[in-house]
Amino acid sequence: MFPLLCNTAEEKTNPSSYEFGETWFDSNKDNMLKCIDLTCLASQSAVTKPVQMKLTAIIDAKICKILSDVILKGHTEELGSWLQSIAENRSKVVQEVSFLDAEQQKHAICAIRRLIDVFSNALKKQINVLVDAEYDDINPAINFISTNMMLLFNKNAPVVQCTYQCYLKSSYNSLRQDMEFCKHFNIHFGAKVVRGAYLESERIKAQKLNMESPVFETWQQTNKNYNKVIAKLIEEISKNKKCHVMVASHNKESIELSVDFINSLGIERSSPQILFAQLYGLSDHLSLWLAKNGFQVYKSSPIGSVDETIPYMIRRANENNSVIQNSRGDRTLMMQEILSRCLFF
Ligand SMILES: Cc1cc2nc3c(=O)[nH]c(=O)nc-3n(C[C@H](O)[C@H](O)[C@H](O)COP(=O)(O)OP(=O)(O)OC[C@H]3O[C@@H](n4cnc5c(N)ncnc54)[C@H](O)[C@@H]3O)c2cc1C
Repeated sequence: MFPLLCNTAEEKTNPSSYEFGETWFDSNKDNMLKCIDLTCLASQSAVTKPVQMKLTAIIDAKICKILSDVILKGHTEELGSWLQSIAENRSKVVQEVSFLDAEQQKHAICAIRRLIDVFSNALKKQINVLVDAEYDDINPAINFISTNMMLLFNKNAPVVQCTYQCYLKSSYNSLRQDMEFCKHFNIHFGAKVVRGAYLESERIKAQKLNMESPVFETWQQTNKNYNKVIAKLIEEISKNKKCHVMVASHNKESIELSVDFINSLGIERSSPQILFAQLYGLSDHLSLWLAKNGFQVYKSSPIGSVDETIPYMIRRANENNSVIQNSRGDRTLMMQEILSRCLFF
């Protein structure tokens, strides 16, 4: 079992972070570089070395919202060529774009350069960066930037990977679209598959805007979609060496289904293309069972200052209420184990 390190930075809102300058984002980039170095040290024997990154720690969430609106309107050509020109002209002046004002462009250019620093470092040190999915109204920008970075960094390894939130009705189609994109350019594709952490806020936002909710109505629908997404990826992995998945879940049924599917397709349990992950401190019995049976298992572990880590952990605790309630099951299992050992001696 290995750590999956993540930076704990929580985005600052109102006023947006870039209005204070680039210092906060620069320090988040430095922390990501530290995560990469620590992963090299801590996971020396791991076949695959992933780290987790929140894009809004590097680029302001309000800019992501503007870019997402541009993408949803279908104006992706100008944005795509702008990203490429920033990547190509690292120290030179970059062309202007119509959808951001001068201040916003300055921040976005700094942010893309920070990202390129992180991914270049990851490529050099053979680390994979799993980019978190966030709120639905900024995810289009996160996904667009990440898939454009894949073009630069994923020629020989899945250095940049996206996250798919299966509570989103659109998630299966987004996954298929990104898989096709990578196949078309003959590059590696990697997906972290989660159920999604912002359920309530997505619903409230949709209600306020009088729009259809982007998330499924029931947990059962989310589960069905999660299992469908995982099945699609594992099936693809059985015939495509350039496809990779991280099953990031505490759900016993989804984990068992994944294991059955891996076994039935004759895929090596220790394949570097299939990873499992749970949050540090949660569902340890599942993580241990997977590791004991030869699968590659990671525990998502936040690192950062106390000031930043506490709000991060509070948010995660709120999001994972159902999983934490299930940890009563973990405690029962631990008690059974202690008793069985005491009785044995
Ligand atoms: C390694 C790792 C990385 C993660 N990265 C991200 C990330 O990048 N982005 C992100 O958003 N989350 C992320 N998460 C959190 C994840 O999305 C889930 O919140 C968490 O893992 C709980 O889901 P589960 O599959 O473990 O468990 P379960 O307890 O089986 O499922 C709970 C989840 O089901 C969904 N759900 C519950 N009730 C309903 C309902 N009524 N209707 C529809 N859906 C419902 C919600 O998504 C809820 O979180 C990550 C989790 C892990 C372990």
